Amino acid sequence: MLGKLTRWLRMLGQDVEYSKNAEDTDLLAVAEKENRILLTRDFELYQRALGKNIDAFYVQGSTGEEKLAELAKRYSIPLEIDMSISRCPKCNSLVKPVPHERLKETVEKNTFEHYNEFWQCSKCGQIYWQGAHWTKIEKSLETARKILERLKKES
Ligand SMILES: [Zn+2]
Repeated sequence: MLGKLTRWLRMLGQDVEYSKNAEDTDLLAVAEKENRILLTRDFELYQRALGKNIDAFYVQGSTGEEKLAELAKRYSIPLEIDMSISRCPKCNSLVKPVPHERLKETVEKNTFEHYNEFWQCSKCGQIYWQGAHWTKIEKSLETARKILERLKKES
C-alpha cells in the first residue's frame, strides 16, 4: 500500500525496506531486529508495534505529498533530493555517479546527448538521470514542502 511513498523516501536518501505481502508478525520482527521504524496504514498493526516498543508511524495522508509531509515533520526528513545520499527507488541500494562516456551504448542516443549527469544503482544496475520526469518530482516535493509548512503552523 505504501509502494509510492517507499520510492520517494529512498530517493530522499532514507533506507526503506518494503514488503507487500509479509505477515504482520514478520514485519514486526524485522522492525524490531533491524531497529527500523514501521510505516503502515493499518491501525491495528500500528498499535501492535507500539505495544512492542517499536517506533511506528501511522500513515494517514491521502496524497503522496501529504504522506511525505507528515513523515518529514515527524522525523525531520529534508524534502530535497541530494544525489550523494539518494537510494535506488527500486531496490534501496545507494546510487553512484557514472561517467557520461561510459553510457554511450547503454542509454538511448537522445538521452545520452541531452544529459551529462547519470547515476547507477550499485546493486540492480538501474541508470538514473534528471530527465523530463524530474520537473514532476521537483513539483511534488515543492507541494510536500508547502504542506509541511502548514502542518508546522498547525501544531
Ligand atoms: Zn537498484
